[in-house]
Amino acid sequence: MHEMSIAVAVVEQVEAAAREHGMPGVARVRLHVGELAGVVPQALDFCFELACAGTLVEGAVLEAESVAARARCRACAVEWAVGMPPDLGCPSCGGGSVELLSGRELQILDVEWAGLPDVRAGQEG
Ligand SMILES: [Zn+2]
Repeated sequence: MHEMSIAVAVVEQVEAAAREHGMPGVARVRLHVGELAGVVPQALDFCFELACAGTLVEGAVLEAESVAARARCRACAVEWAVGMPPDLGCPSCGGGSVELLSGRELQILDVEWAGLPDVRAGQEG
């Protein structure tokens, strides 16, 4: 399952980061998921929970933010939302030479650690 391998990769990366920073746990993981990445949000949620079990990431909330797919025509530079299923013909000139600007993202935006005193408030002294 596509979502399972994504979930495992995300959990591995977040857990590695948690260990590196000496964090006891993870409260929240935010992901950017492109419209064309082929990810079913419910399936990703489910797989994330499975992948988390027994790791430092267990109990974390997964927030997947969908990124709209956009393309640009190489001929006339018009940009448009390609939608799903993707429409990759230029709406302006009909050209078929397009550049995908966004929509295939699959990246960790940020991670909120759990079980910490409020470090942000006390850092300066
Ligand atoms: Zn065009």
